[in-house]
Amino acid sequence: MSERKVPTGRYLVTGGAGFIGSHLCEKLLQSGSQVVAVDNLITGNLRNLKNFENNPKFELIRQDITGRLEILGNFDGIFHLASPASPVDYAEFPIETLRVGSYGSEHVLEMAKKSKCRVLVASTSEIYGDPQQHPQKESYWGNVNSIGPRSCYDESKRFLEALTMAYHRVFGLQTRIIRIFNTYGPRMRENDGRVVPNFCMQALRGESITIYGEGKQTRSFCYVSDLVEGILATFLGDSHLPINLGNPTEFTIADFAKKIIALTGSRSELVHKPLPEDDPQLRCPDITKARTELNWEPKVPIDEGLAKTIEYFRQLV
Ligand code: UDP
Repeated sequence: MSERKVPTGRYLVTGGAGFIGSHLCEKLLQSGSQVVAVDNLITGNLRNLKNFENNPKFELIRQDITGRLEILGNFDGIFHLASPASPVDYAEFPIETLRVGSYGSEHVLEMAKKSKCRVLVASTSEIYGDPQQHPQKESYWGNVNSIGPRSCYDESKRFLEALTMAYHRVFGLQTRIIRIFNTYGPRMRENDGRVVPNFCMQALRGESITIYGEGKQTRSFCYVSDLVEGILATFLGDSHLPINLGNPTEFTIADFAKKIIALTGSRSELVHKPLPEDDPQLRCPDITKARTELNWEPKVPIDEGLAKTIEYFRQLV
C-alpha cells in the first residue's frame, strides 16, 4: 500500500483549522498543491496551522460557511470537514452543528458544482447511532434517536449524506462520502471532552481518570495519519457510496483507561461518572469495503499512535 497523492492542484478544505482538517491541509501542501482552508474557528484552532501557515501555497479564510461560502476562483477538489465533532462540542453548539451539516453542506456542494470538481464529505460513525449490528457495515441503516442530545450531530450528518447523494443523482456531481470512526492524534483540543484528550490530560496531570458508566462500552481508535491516507484513497477512488474509515481494533473504555495510565506512567486512579444519555454501547467499523475497494487499512499500532499523542498533550499540561 503506497502513499496516496492527489493530482497537484487547488483544493478547498472546510474545517481546515480543525484536528483532522489541519492534518489533511498539511498533507496536500506536502504534495505541492495549493490549499485554501475555510474555518470559523468555533472548534478549530489557529495553533493547528503552525507547521504550514507561512507556506505561500496556503491560505486560511475565516468564514462561517453556514451563512455563505464566497471564495474566488475554482477548485480541483473539495474536502468538506467543517463541523463540531465531539459530543461535548455539539452539545454546546447544537444549532451551529445542524446548520453546518445542512446550509453549510449545501454551500459546499454548490461550490463543487460551480467548480465542476470532485467533493468528499465527512460523515461519521454516529449515523449508526447506538448500533444493533456489530461491527458496523456501510449497509447498516443505524439506530438513531432523532430527538436525543446527540441528534443535532447524527441527523445533520445523515442529512449531509442525503444531500450529497441528491447532488450526485440530480447533477451527476462526483461525490465521495466517508464515515469517520473515532480518530485520535496530535492537535486534538485538550478540552474537547472526548475520551482520548480527557484520559491523556487527566493521566498527565495526575487527576482521576473519569470513566463514564461501567466502562464496558467499546470504541476503536484510528491514528490521524492513517485516516488522512484513507481520505485521500477515498477521494481518488471510484465509488460515490459511503465508506467506513476507522481502525477495527476494539477496546472497552475501562481497558483503554488502563492503557493510557500504563503509557503515561501515571498514578491516576479510576473514577466512575454517569454515562451520558444515548452513549453508543458498541462501536467498531467493518472496513472490508475500504480494504477491498481502496486497498486501505490502518497501519499505525495503537501504542505508537498514543505515544505521539501523549507527547503532544504533555506540552499542553
Ligand atoms: N468517555 C469516558 N470518559 C471521558 C470521556 C468519554 O468514559 O472522560 C467515554 C464515553 O462515554 C464514550 C467513549 O468514552 O463511551 C468515547 O467518547 P468520546 O466522547 O470520545 O466520543 P464518542 O465515541 O462517544 O463520539
